[in-house]
Amino acid sequence: MANELLRDQGGPVLQRAKIVLSFRGSGWQTGAISTTDVRRAFDAVLASPYLSHLVQYRGIRRAEIVFSSVDTSDLGSLGPDPRKFVAGNIWLLRDEDIRNVARDALKARPPQDNEEMIYFTVVSQDPIPIVVEQKDADGYHNTFNEEGTTVFYGVLLHQSASTVEESWRYLPGIFTHELVETCTDPDVRSGFIVDPFGEICDMGEERAVRLPGLEREIKLAVYWSELKRKTVTPLTYSLRVALGKRDTDSVPAVKPLLQGKSVRDFILAGCNP
Ligand SMILES: [Zn+2]
Repeated sequence: MANELLRDQGGPVLQRAKIVLSFRGSGWQTGAISTTDVRRAFDAVLASPYLSHLVQYRGIRRAEIVFSSVDTSDLGSLGPDPRKFVAGNIWLLRDEDIRNVARDALKARPPQDNEEMIYFTVVSQDPIPIVVEQKDADGYHNTFNEEGTTVFYGVLLHQSASTVEESWRYLPGIFTHELVETCTDPDVRSGFIVDPFGEICDMGEERAVRLPGLEREIKLAVYWSELKRKTVTPLTYSLRVALGKRDTDSVPAVKPLLQGKSVRDFILAGCNP
């Protein structure tokens, strides 16, 4: 694990992503976790310092959920598991189904004033849903063109609608993975990647954490921090990282810099001018 090579391929990044969540599927009606629970967990992640190391990737700041909607009709059709993991039928979704949800969401909450939008579909259906084109993934992100608008979209698949503890834990892991990668490589072609893994969460590791305001532990995707030369799940703000410094770089005298602010307030002021 010492040969990771970060490459900036020079394409777009999403500096201040605005997220639209489209909850889809009957699992949101009958399952053990509600859309309110999921929203609360995702909001807690975004309120935390988790994304703060992304500032080193061309100034990516904190993302925000700006709109969500719920539709408890199921997507896709039932059929045999093409992976042959599950004996009975499963829900088979097409990428086009996910794009259609994103198209509806785009109409419901279009970008305003050059906002950088991400349209995530969060699917909960029993038995488990998969997207056939991406059959081994719990989630993915991609982009398409809709009448001249570049749409950044993704899906998060909830695969255990009936077990509370697991749902709480793993959906935030998928959300953070796809969010970090959508911000750093929105066109899935020309953003930041880490060789030999792929996009910057593709080492595929997660860390279980407890965030303020959440009664349960959740998982967060680890991502590559080039300044730290390792994977991180930041839970505190780092002045060094906010200033773009490596651990071996010298840092200017901190006190005059902070001007009486706490490190957190100093960094957040820089994030939300
Ligand atoms: Zn990934």
